[in-house]
Amino acid sequence: MRWHETGKIKWGAAAVLLALGAGLLGAQKIAWGGTEQARPLQEDRVTELRAEIAHHDELYFKEAAPEISDSDYDRLKRELAALERAHPEWAGPTGMGDDRSGRFPNYVHRQPMLSLDKAYTEAEWRAFHAGVVARLGRKNLTFVVEPKYDGLAISLTYERGVLTRAATRGNGLVGDDVTDNVRTIAMLPQQLRRAAADGTPSSIPNLLELRGEVYVDDAEFARLNAARVAEGVEPFAHPRNLAAGTLKSQDRAELASRRLSIVIYSWGAWEDGAVPTTQQAFHAQVRAWGLPGVGKFEVVTSAGDGWRAIQSFGRTRTQLGFPIDGAVVKIDGVALRSHLGQSDHAPRWAIAYKFEPERIVTRVRAITIQVGRTGLLTPVAELESVKLGGTSIARATLHNREVLARRDIRVGDFVEIEKAGEIIPAIAAVLLERRPEGTRRYEFPERCPACGSAVESKPGETAVRCPNFHCPAQLRRRLEHFASAAAVGIRGLGPAMIGILVREGLVKAPSDFYRLRPADLDGVDGIGPKVAERLLDAIERSKQAELWRYIYGLGIPRIGAANARKLAQACGSLEAFAAMGKEQVVAIVGIAAADSLVEFLTRPENRAELEALQALVARWKLAGSAP
Ligand SMILES: [Zn+2]
Repeated sequence: MRWHETGKIKWGAAAVLLALGAGLLGAQKIAWGGTEQARPLQEDRVTELRAEIAHHDELYFKEAAPEISDSDYDRLKRELAALERAHPEWAGPTGMGDDRSGRFPNYVHRQPMLSLDKAYTEAEWRAFHAGVVARLGRKNLTFVVEPKYDGLAISLTYERGVLTRAATRGNGLVGDDVTDNVRTIAMLPQQLRRAAADGTPSSIPNLLELRGEVYVDDAEFARLNAARVAEGVEPFAHPRNLAAGTLKSQDRAELASRRLSIVIYSWGAWEDGAVPTTQQAFHAQVRAWGLPGVGKFEVVTSAGDGWRAIQSFGRTRTQLGFPIDGAVVKIDGVALRSHLGQSDHAPRWAIAYKFEPERIVTRVRAITIQVGRTGLLTPVAELESVKLGGTSIARATLHNREVLARRDIRVGDFVEIEKAGEIIPAIAAVLLERRPEGTRRYEFPERCPACGSAVESKPGETAVRCPNFHCPAQLRRRLEHFASAAAVGIRGLGPAMIGILVREGLVKAPSDFYRLRPADLDGVDGIGPKVAERLLDAIERSKQAELWRYIYGLGIPRIGAANARKLAQACGSLEAFAAMGKEQVVAIVGIAAADSLVEFLTRPENRAELEALQALVARWKLAGSAP
């Protein structure tokens, strides 16, 4: 859609916006002028904004897969809020969204989980501060500035010190009961400590609702994405989506394979016990109970110091080790909070300052297609190299055919690059006003660029695949994965060497590595006698690798290292592995991962490969060491 104040194309909301058509959007300029005839258009804009926000809420909360960046989403919400403030007669439910997925029991919060009002500029922060000062009639007020963790809000209920319930925010009143999943978070004690580390006894209320955030820290996000890239699957775009998707997963194996983190920063119900008198005292109490609390916060007593603390979090956000999207400022004194009270949707004693993501403009040099190990075709934007957040960026994923078509990114376009979750670069916007003459819509290839096979996509799926199992691009990727250190680990068998072996027709499957003889490599362009000897030696030595590494090395979708280890434990040989039935597979790796493995095992060429590997290598060591 076209945004008149910026002239950029904004992603997403395709269905909603296409239906609304260009006429209405074109009228927005007049609407902002505030003329009489513009009023109906403004009212239409309110309807449009609500529909669009609801659409994104659905994507964001229910599928944990947003189409637009946070700042664009927030811009929509602010525009709506501004219109509703100007026209209270139009103000319906503002809609904080609803994260319930329909797959968990409902849980009614004892006290509602409100969202916070947002600030985006220094002026908005100062206006909030001035409002609090005016309402309380005093100037020297103490505020606590905390990092705004970027994950999924959670409410934990402890009864007599024991964790009994965990629920998502839901619509603020009712959330998803995700108790079982939250219990898998290793850093969260199921029981509160009755004495602090220094021996001071901690009082424990009969009933306590603690509020916090489930998130994925930077190290875990990087670890999981490295594994996905090694498996040839699309990396996760944003740690927040990953946290939400994992917390709402019904797949125990998946939950166990990802390390979620949690932080406690607030509370709801607090029955029969002394409520802390300040936010600082609350943080200390959380630590005394042995819970993960907010490690770093600033105490400020003026609007100026508050602004400096907010900016300081913004500057250091990439070094914190966990994802944040802003800073939260709360008045320290709890008694003052009840004086300030709340509006219909947010407390008046706190505000969330949201950071603008780091962005930079560059140009699309070319659009290329990557063929993954499983035949997945992924369009990639080749960019004029730029520095962003300390790293150099020359490529950005365009996800898939559908996303690319909807965004209509063209070769020659100027684009804004944003680091989603500070790690993976994504194209945030196309600068339409700078689009050069003569650019053309990208035509997604109908044939695989590596082998020329007609591409396929299953009905209802966005993924486009090359169906040719013998496609050289897929083959190279599969072999690279098999030989990589994460899998079987054959030294010297990198992409270049594999390229040569595939080109010469010497290797068509992993088992062919073990059939190579010195005579096969003799005189091959690019492989000297020394290299050949070392390579054959490395292949021979790789027969010592544990069985799970071979299973993982097969590159079956959703069979990562953890599942491969379980399968190796259960089977003991590739023969037994090949003979597994569906029920056995489900029992070992869970339902979600079972389908692709069962499909893999039913293909005759895969069974033949397993038999060949068993015959050629057959020296499995069952004891698994960490990859
Ligand atoms: Zn192909």
